[in-house]
Amino acid sequence: MSEFAELAAKAEKLDATDELAGKRAEFVLDEIVYLDGNSLGALPANVPGRVEDVVLRQWGRMRIRSWDESGWWTAPERIGDRIAPLVGAAPGQIVVGDSTSVNVFKALVAAVRIAESTGSAGSAGSTGSAGTGRDEILVDATTFPTDGYIAESAARMTGRTLRPVTPAEVPAALSGRTAAVLLNHVDYRTGRLHDLPSLTAAVHAAGAVAVWDLCHSAGALPVGLDEHGVDLAVGCTYKYLNGGPGSPAYLYVRRDLQDRFDSPLPGWNSHTEPFGMRPDFEPASGALRGRVGTPDILSMLALEAAMEVWDGVSIEAVRAKSLALTDFFLECVAAYVPKDRVESVTPAPHAERGSQVALRSADAGDVMKRLIERGVVGDFRHPDVLRFGFTPLYVGFADVERAARVLAEVLLR
Ligand SMILES: *Cc1c(COP(=O)(O)O)cnc(C)c1O
Repeated sequence: MSEFAELAAKAEKLDATDELAGKRAEFVLDEIVYLDGNSLGALPANVPGRVEDVVLRQWGRMRIRSWDESGWWTAPERIGDRIAPLVGAAPGQIVVGDSTSVNVFKALVAAVRIAESTGSAGSAGSTGSAGTGRDEILVDATTFPTDGYIAESAARMTGRTLRPVTPAEVPAALSGRTAAVLLNHVDYRTGRLHDLPSLTAAVHAAGAVAVWDLCHSAGALPVGLDEHGVDLAVGCTYKYLNGGPGSPAYLYVRRDLQDRFDSPLPGWNSHTEPFGMRPDFEPASGALRGRVGTPDILSMLALEAAMEVWDGVSIEAVRAKSLALTDFFLECVAAYVPKDRVESVTPAPHAERGSQVALRSADAGDVMKRLIERGVVGDFRHPDVLRFGFTPLYVGFADVERAARVLAEVLLR
């Protein structure tokens, strides 16, 4: 058997025993191999009908009554509770709304305010130091740019110094001066998975507040927010959660920190009595404090429909398949593509790998263009990275084999 036939046969076997294989039928897909679900998830087939109902019936005919009768007003916390099990959170700690960028701002400023209010969010190492003692914010130096831009502004506004460090450098950089730390769970470029439990523990041991960005992990792997005592977290819903372009992000505020969550964007939606129309702000209790203004109902309810594909799906099964997909992709690439043409920048150990594979290649922008022309859609990240995202709900092993084969054809042409 040729190498191609061998790996194609292996793909067929893996697909035959894939317990998530049936999920693909719940998405609108064609013969394209879609490996860009870590940028924009595919369309769940039930979404168009739901959006039509929301627009024509709820908005068109019920109009203002829908705020109550169609559950519009409570959608942010209701959908937050739907996302919660995927990130290991008990109900009542997540609200949906605004963009990830805006939620990074809310979370980071609130984290600094928590740190200054009593010195620590974690149970260990509380020093009770007042605001002046904790004058630094640490930010992931390799972060997706928006988080870094917002952290810089948050630092300036709160009078802190921003110190960019790589996640590996965080333990050594932590000190009694650290107020808050903003980290990415998975590096968007390399696909490296950072050690959330141990980094969170280190942040707490220093008496600081940990803020995690889950954009590239929620819906792809277990996060364990409650289990690992994460303080605050944010994430987007249009990647592995398939909420649609620009679907609203979410904010997690650990239950025992909610009373101390002092939002830098208090709006009437986070007021304890929004319709009291009172001049003074009095925050609602619970995760509701993360809300700001009127929720973006159309995209929020599209997201709610999209979340139905997760019914009966365990995130552990998703993780197992994700690792099998990325393992198999690396195996096929190693078999088909000459070693000197691409280099994986995604860590080989499972414990350090998210749900994507990033390959460094000369002319990566041009290579990706040609891949897309041939029906294999990944994306290009400046300056030289080919990025392939593996979404276990709708990518199969035959797709993976085909993607590697087409990549080899493109590179060898
Ligand atoms: C995708 C992504 C974002 C996106 O932020 P938006 O405000 O939704 O544009 C932010 N942070 C990270 C780490 C991301 O991967």
